[in-house]
Amino acid sequence: MLIRLAYRFATEISPRLTIKAGYLWAFKGMRAVNAYKRRVRRGQLFPPFLFLALTNACNLRCHGCWIDSKGKVDQLSREDVDSLIAAGKRQRSYFYTLLGGEPMLYSHLWDIVEGHPECYFQIITNGMFFSEDNVRRIRRAGNVTPLVSLDGGQEQNDARRGQGVFERAIEGLRRLQMGRILYGVATTVTGTNLDEVLTDAYVRALIDRGAMYLWYYVYRPVGPDPSPQFCVSREQMIQLRRRLLELRRKHPILVIDTYWNAQGEAVCPAALGLGFHIGPRGTIEPCPPLSFACQTIQQKGDLFETINESRYLRSFQQFVRERTRGCVILEHPHELAAFLRDAGAIDSSGRDALADLEGSQPRTSHHLAGEEIPEDFWFYRMLKKQLFFGMGGYG
Ligand code: SF4
Repeated sequence: MLIRLAYRFATEISPRLTIKAGYLWAFKGMRAVNAYKRRVRRGQLFPPFLFLALTNACNLRCHGCWIDSKGKVDQLSREDVDSLIAAGKRQRSYFYTLLGGEPMLYSHLWDIVEGHPECYFQIITNGMFFSEDNVRRIRRAGNVTPLVSLDGGQEQNDARRGQGVFERAIEGLRRLQMGRILYGVATTVTGTNLDEVLTDAYVRALIDRGAMYLWYYVYRPVGPDPSPQFCVSREQMIQLRRRLLELRRKHPILVIDTYWNAQGEAVCPAALGLGFHIGPRGTIEPCPPLSFACQTIQQKGDLFETINESRYLRSFQQFVRERTRGCVILEHPHELAAFLRDAGAIDSSGRDALADLEGSQPRTSHHLAGEEIPEDFWFYRMLKKQLFFGMGGYG
């Protein structure tokens, strides 16, 4: 598998882009993780990677999206993003996941990417905006990897994302492939698409379309349209874990998850302080689906100090640790709502996310106590120890 993967990198991706990704993403990512580990030893809190929600504007209305894109458009200013990145660099953090809404709708996107050539950016996108011109810009910049959301074949994908979305996203992938761009596909596993998106045929189809990595997320019933019918049961979660290991051994594509460590134990990246989320109004939140904050980036002082001294972010870590290794949003929504209320956290979702939490049912998450399945492939064991936490993933 590794030889076939190396062959794919050598023949399908522009050599310049591969070298840049190797240095800016993998090598600097590893250094960022090491700097993070040193900070942890010193008792300091600052993540090796940050999610920047550039805007809440989006052209789609997917089920289960935590962003409320109706009404007023909020977005980070160019200056805010520049100073966030400058603060990150002071802590050796050079990897930024840009998301939205739809980040390709953000007017300063290319200024940011081109203005920070020493950083690497992952753009999480619905894939609708890969015009020839945009693909050329990605290729010229060299420090960008698009991560395109696709939730199965046409029927499954469009049931969640809207009619006609699949076809347009596939056209976007075709353009990325023609441009020899290093890109990935993000697939949200739901209780209804699981039998399709974990098959060899699905993974092979993405390889044929030029995707170099496949990032699996698990559906969370959050946002203005939580659609709990898409949730994954415990049995399905175990099935997912097993299939991940099989797919990793078999196919020449990187299969990514940020749910389990090398031992197969559940991980909550927010509880470990691996990647906080900056909302489009500058709020500093534990992770993308949890839009509650006590601090903003506009507060006086350095971002490092704001995060390091945040009682809210630190007590959130403690709150999670005392309950689960998995996801508190799924497992303990009512206690989480009480915690957020006590902490005085501001709901930055644009809706009543606290009421959403209070009204939701406790569900299973990726914490499979007693049924952990360790990584059985040395390559992924090594990646999990070094890099995977740092690929900007949220649990
Ligand atoms: S496991 Fe849940 S709380 Fe933790 S980072 Fe993921 S979504 Fe957020």
